Amino acid sequence: MHVMHAEVGWIEVICGPMFSGKSEELIRRLRRAQIARQRVQVFKPAIDVRYAEGQIVSHSRAALDAQPVGSSAELARAIRGDTRVVGIDEAQFFDDAIVGVVERLADQGARVVCAGLDQDYTGAPFGCMPSLMAAAEYVTKTLAICTRCGAPAGRSQRLVPDGAQVLVGALEAYEARCRRCHSPRAEPTTRELFEEPA
Ligand code: ADP
Ligand code: ZN
Repeated sequence: MHVMHAEVGWIEVICGPMFSGKSEELIRRLRRAQIARQRVQVFKPAIDVRYAEGQIVSHSRAALDAQPVGSSAELARAIRGDTRVVGIDEAQFFDDAIVGVVERLADQGARVVCAGLDQDYTGAPFGCMPSLMAAAEYVTKTLAICTRCGAPAGRSQRLVPDGAQVLVGALEAYEARCRRCHSPRAEPTTRELFEEPA
């Protein structure tokens, strides 16, 4: 992994709950770099196969080609020498070593843009994200709209009971909620709650 050019690199983190526009914002920033003819490489964890294997796809269907990698070491090995901008989606699913990999890329002059969930469905900090946010020069927190009350929402409500922190791909399994409407336990969907019983 050698990224060599004279400019100073940096780390950007885009974080927030599900449906807050993290992927949209990541795609927007990377598109602009591509338009500027900068060499861009985009990665996502191989664990996240919602919609498309070789792409980042937002909930609003914006898409960008991305290379699935199984670990931070695999990501580091895949970096080409002329790459100036590195995008990483669903960064919370990477192992802790991603922080060192991202720091090294920035040290070598790359701009690294990471998007990921800052909290899991219980509201606890998610994996490597707190460390990535600490290492970053720029942190953007995006908020969704609470499906219950319409307030700005910083949390992801789990709707399907499952003890594991990671439950990927099932969009129906989560809803955006504000802190007042969020519960760390799985709940029925807002739609089910307001539907007339048959
Ligand atoms: P993230 O990567 O943070 O999960 P995406 O970029 O994939 O977010 O999707 C954001 C899009 O999701 C919004 O532009 C909007 O079209 C849609 N959306 C669906 N539900 C909500 C919600 N409750 N609040 C805000 N946006 C929502
Ligand atoms: Zn609410």
